[in-house]
Amino acid sequence: SHRIMLGPLVAAIDQGTSSTRFLVFNSKTAELLSHHQVEIKQSFPKEGWVEEDPKEILQSVYECMERTCEKLTQLNIDISNIKAIGVTNQRETTLVWDKETGEPLYNAIVWLDLRTQSTVERLINKTPGRNKNHLKHKTGLPISTYFSAVKLRWLMDNVEQVHEAVVSHRAMFGTVDSWLIWCLTGGKSGGVHCTDVTNASRTMLFNIHTMDWDPELCKYFGIPMEILPRVRSSSEIYGLMKICSSRKSGALSGIPISGCLGDQSAALVGQMCFQDGQAKNTYGTGCFLLRNTGAKPVMSDHGLLTTVAYKLGRDKPACYALEGSVAIAGAVVRWLQDNLGIIGSSEELEKLAASVGTSYGCYFVPAFSGLYAPYWEPSARGIICGLTQFTNKSHLAFSALEAVCFQTREILDAMNQDSGIPLTQLQVDGGMTSNRLLMQLQADILCIPVVKPSMPETTALGAAMAAGAAEGVSVWSLSPEDLSEVTSEKFEPQINPEESEFRYARWKKAVEKSMNWET
Ligand code: ADP
Repeated sequence: SHRIMLGPLVAAIDQGTSSTRFLVFNSKTAELLSHHQVEIKQSFPKEGWVEEDPKEILQSVYECMERTCEKLTQLNIDISNIKAIGVTNQRETTLVWDKETGEPLYNAIVWLDLRTQSTVERLINKTPGRNKNHLKHKTGLPISTYFSAVKLRWLMDNVEQVHEAVVSHRAMFGTVDSWLIWCLTGGKSGGVHCTDVTNASRTMLFNIHTMDWDPELCKYFGIPMEILPRVRSSSEIYGLMKICSSRKSGALSGIPISGCLGDQSAALVGQMCFQDGQAKNTYGTGCFLLRNTGAKPVMSDHGLLTTVAYKLGRDKPACYALEGSVAIAGAVVRWLQDNLGIIGSSEELEKLAASVGTSYGCYFVPAFSGLYAPYWEPSARGIICGLTQFTNKSHLAFSALEAVCFQTREILDAMNQDSGIPLTQLQVDGGMTSNRLLMQLQADILCIPVVKPSMPETTALGAAMAAGAAEGVSVWSLSPEDLSEVTSEKFEPQINPEESEFRYARWKKAVEKSMNWET
């Protein structure tokens, strides 16, 4: 059999909240050559708790790598063409493991988890003026259940093994990127304990101005700095893959891991939003709109986060972004499927909703994990309102899709107010964008066109680009001109703006009720 001649290849591990993927790109064309995806189990041990198994996460990465290698071999593509591997991950999700045994000391606490709500309320009550933005000048973030520091604090206070490991200097903290890189570079026998600036900027322990861990923040949360990973740029060689040769993915041993970005940053890079003012919205488990603000961190007056967008090389400047985070987007689809059983798969949702084409006045605020941007209200809870005898599951399905669009509208409005320059179109990606009805609804509700690239794996592409561009690898230049052939699909607004405003005003009323239903 003959081998296909290709340029250097770059791979990416995309470890998301709902699934793990391994993908291989041609660095000359950004073409996706092969990939494999495995679902991740989420457990909900108590109301408001969301956990995942760190070993299952790691195992899913091995499985995706093995299956992708097999597929490449079937395509006659030589695995030795892979020159670098990038990592992109669900952000904020918090892990602690024992560096001597290599064992996780508890499940990963997923970003959506609400168990720290009372801790957060206590912290806010102690600040002058009960100000949730008390630490924002350093972190760019409000005090919230969302970020890692409070989750780590909970682990230290409530899990005996974590406490013991911290006291005996055996504990390592990390977000999913750190856990994977440590394991894949050798684990307990010499694994590299690091994270990148984008992931670090979501912990609440990181100072986004000095670009390093902040001793005062660590003291505030009572976190010993020795358990923190070393902070590196998003594009440099962190270490080499070290996989036991008995594993089928052993062929990947020796390849540098040289890119690391939180998933939303990776999507920004993968969408080539390198210019100040460029933005993208990613629809996955949650929904995240990021707008590049260039070399300066811009503080929001409208409930958005300030975050590190990327730093593509040790000597390169950091770029910042304003971010609007929505906790529940695709997660509502999974809820309709798993908890209500009104759809058998996420693909069925579109058909069901399209069969009626309206919510018939039903509004669904899926505030399962409180409300994130722009409200940051952890005590909000989900509501469905406007029901009549006529309402059926198709209307509910439609209202769930609309909820995602309205939440994006709220973020976009905040973004436009903060920057003073309205976005004229929205670049989108993520698993939910395969739903064409959702994309059309989004254009209708925003009254601007929605643009979706035909290659949907932009998050993985961003991580692969960062890995391929790293010093010492240099098989991928990051200039957008090289990738100008990106094709896309455009959804134009089709309803009149008055109709759109009317529905949006109703949505706002529903949101108010979700925040005040207890009182
Ligand atoms: P993550 O990165 O958070 O794991 P993905 O980008 O992989 O998320 O997207 C998965 C999410 O998208 C899931 O929550 C799933 O329910 C939702 N989803 C996937 N396909 C569709 C669809 N056709 N319609 C609506 N939602 C979908």
